[in-house]
Amino acid sequence: MTGKILVTRSSMPEYEEYCEEIRDLWETHWLTNMGAKHKQFQADLKSYLGVENIDLLTNGHMALELSIQAMNLHGEVITTPFTFASTTHAIVRNGLEPVFCDIDPVDFTMDASKIESLITDKTCAIVPVHVYGNVCNIEEIQRIADKYSLKVIYDAAHTFGVKYKGKSTADYGDASCFSFHATKVFNTIEGGAVCFHDQDFGLNLYRLKNFGIRGPEVVDGVGANAKMNEFCAAMGICNLRHLEAEIEKRKLVVERYRSHLDSIDGLQLNPVQKDVDANYSYFPVVFNEKVFGASRNEVFNALADNGIGARKYFYPLTNTFDCFHGRYDEHKTPTALHMSKRVLTLPLYADLSLEDVDRICDVVLKTAKKTSVRIADMIR
Ligand SMILES: *Cc1c(COP(=O)(O)O)cnc(C)c1O
Repeated sequence: MTGKILVTRSSMPEYEEYCEEIRDLWETHWLTNMGAKHKQFQADLKSYLGVENIDLLTNGHMALELSIQAMNLHGEVITTPFTFASTTHAIVRNGLEPVFCDIDPVDFTMDASKIESLITDKTCAIVPVHVYGNVCNIEEIQRIADKYSLKVIYDAAHTFGVKYKGKSTADYGDASCFSFHATKVFNTIEGGAVCFHDQDFGLNLYRLKNFGIRGPEVVDGVGANAKMNEFCAAMGICNLRHLEAEIEKRKLVVERYRSHLDSIDGLQLNPVQKDVDANYSYFPVVFNEKVFGASRNEVFNALADNGIGARKYFYPLTNTFDCFHGRYDEHKTPTALHMSKRVLTLPLYADLSLEDVDRICDVVLKTAKKTSVRIADMIR
């Protein structure tokens, strides 16, 4: 038996490559506030993503929170509870009311067919999430947004590197927010970015990430501080050079997982979406206890006993968080509730060895056997 396996492992460039990238900073002493690295990284991202406009921020959360703020919204926002805390918090921290839409049972993203029934005269925006790198029903969401004049702000934290119909997902919606956190497919240690089309929105966002400062003597917005620093931008410049190779390695890991788990009854894997170039960001498995012979929690515990980290992602749903106690009813999003109790994301990173994937799958599959033996014992 080999060592511990964590659920993820951050991608890093070679030490020398990063040192070379930050060398100029010792000459300029310009460490933050939109310096040379920030400018270069922004340009690199524009060309990689094929977008016209992108701004860089400290993290994915501030990308979301300030994007929402930059739109001057009031009222209700339709969103999903099957996401990371950040999505819901970004809405609530803006003084807006989240209205939770249920999810699609196959791809885990917002069920677009349920959006219209949640729209009221207070609805101002839709905040969907491309969960596990699965692309939302972009066309239907945009159709609804256009019909009711709603803004669309995508939480695209999971989709860096994903293309839909040959185009980056960054191009869709009024704003598309990425996270470059250490645990993501592509990282800048901590970091985030927003892609957008409207120049006024871009200017608002730029000011909000720098205290609302318009000019040397004019502060006309109550902004925050969410500027990406030069060291993070330099990390991004380096990591972007290796992104395609990293995604290729992730693909091999995912294929190995599938070779073991695809045909097992009682397991639901991530769908292969039509017209989508995937980034292989996560490997979620939904356990149907009765059919498979073990529950999500039993598998989680068995993996932990073997030194393997898995993550109950996303559990609990954001509409059941303690900080929102009594405010929302999770039974209004039954599919999300069902999935959150049964899903587990297995370890996945570019350098995860295929032998480790074999070992992980072995533990998962043996958990089922043990349980069925136990049931057989009980029947006897
Ligand atoms: C990681 C993540 C965020 C937040 O990004 P940070 O860079 O960690 O602030 C937001 N939404 C989702 C779905 C995420 O996975």
